[in-house]
Amino acid sequence: MQKKQIQPFDVIVIGAGPAGYSSAIRCAQLGLKTACIDNWHNEKGRSSLGGTYLNAGCVASLALLESAKIYHSLNHNLKQHGIQADAVTADITLMMQRKNNIIETLSRQIADLFAQHKITCIQAKAKLLNERRVEITPADRSPSSIIGAKHIILATGSSPVDLPGAQIDNAFIIDSGMALNLDAVPKRLAIIGAGVIGLELAGIWSRLGAETILLEAQETFLSMTDQQIAREAYRIYTEQGLELRLGARVISAKKGNKKVTVEYQDSEGTHALRVDKLIVASGRKPNTENLAAAEADLLLDENGYVYVDENCRSNLPGVYAIGDLTLLGPMIAHKGIEEGLFVAEQIAGLHNPINYDLLPSVVFTEPEIAWVGQTEQALRAMGEPIKIGVYPLKATARAQALGQTEGMVKIIAHAETDALLGIHIIGTQASEMIAEAVLAMEFSASSEDLARTIHAHPTLAKALHGAALALKTRFST
Ligand code: NAD
Repeated sequence: MQKKQIQPFDVIVIGAGPAGYSSAIRCAQLGLKTACIDNWHNEKGRSSLGGTYLNAGCVASLALLESAKIYHSLNHNLKQHGIQADAVTADITLMMQRKNNIIETLSRQIADLFAQHKITCIQAKAKLLNERRVEITPADRSPSSIIGAKHIILATGSSPVDLPGAQIDNAFIIDSGMALNLDAVPKRLAIIGAGVIGLELAGIWSRLGAETILLEAQETFLSMTDQQIAREAYRIYTEQGLELRLGARVISAKKGNKKVTVEYQDSEGTHALRVDKLIVASGRKPNTENLAAAEADLLLDENGYVYVDENCRSNLPGVYAIGDLTLLGPMIAHKGIEEGLFVAEQIAGLHNPINYDLLPSVVFTEPEIAWVGQTEQALRAMGEPIKIGVYPLKATARAQALGQTEGMVKIIAHAETDALLGIHIIGTQASEMIAEAVLAMEFSASSEDLARTIHAHPTLAKALHGAALALKTRFST
């Protein structure tokens, strides 16, 4: 049967996560006739723009972490403020509703932006047929059709990897998306993987009262992070009550009698652990399965990432891939957003490349971890001459007033040129403080520039100023 043909677009974006929706909006702003196709459905079967990031990732996680922090703080920190409260309880159903309301609001905002920018939003599953054509199959099983465009942007994101031996049933052995939708606090919870997702989920459920054990295969904690900061994080999380078992590789997980038995190996042998729920947070993979028809000849690597050049161009002329689909940078939302804008501008004839070296990273735990640039261990391995300034958060009046004194700012600068090479923060609101560090490095600031910049007092950002001053005994004249 002949498939229905729709008038061609300048650009079709496949996927409405942060990379895709940002790209579609920028394309439209630049005068391109744009369509965005997405097939996300929430648990009620309703379509929702925003992808994993909004619906089952970052935003959902942040919303729940805020609730968990309030609950934990009311139960543990009131006395020091001279405040008394009767027993504080948590209603997980209401907490989830608040989180869902936030998701709905933000998703609606994306839909409104699409409408304002006259972007054609198509709720369907898309398949790349060739460099100009996409097949769309609506979720309601109405007949599929084909749409065409001069440019196609692939932005379908990623999903959790399966762990052989730990079959997800989303009742007892659950994935990271389901872990943001539980209806009760598990008494004893194990998490496979002490990566970013594992730690963020642990921060939520342990604060709500779950005894939480993280099983991490690597011996080194947070190996991508500056190791001085990682050691501090390990100490703080452990003191908060998280049980972090490093060098512990999970080999199987079986459910029975409403419990999960997790088997793992470490240097001392094989161990078994019985828990009420097990979260698998052992990494993510790009969503490229069935993304392109075999005849399209889209080039993927052996792990399913789309092969792209430094301009996010795939092997097919006019077809780009952005966000979690490529190995151009880590799987973080703002990398995808920047690539979305970059590709839209390229299509419109502009060229504003991304500085991947200055991509900030954030771990949304409490305290938060945030960094930009290089770690001390990487710089030492390269033999760079460096100098380091460290300033503890507890030395700032603001941290004392907040009662959140854990953490530090660490600045690494070139020993001879004084150029900023890496800024690493652990502490409350590190995610906000890192913006100043990124800006300074984007403008090639020296540590002296930071030290000479006037910071409002008393603020947490004074710790950045303090670390920059710690690098200097005398300013050059
Ligand atoms: P990850 O790779 O950061 O961590 C997964 C961890 O699981 C690894 O440390 C790995 O050693 C461990 N692991 C794997 N198999 C194991 C096993 N059998 N037993 C024990 N441990 C095992 O992956 P993630 O935390 O799932 O996150 C996926 C991606 O999403 C990452 O790139 C992450 O940066 C990104 N992300 C970023 C943010 C953020 O920016 N705040 C938030 C969420 C996710």
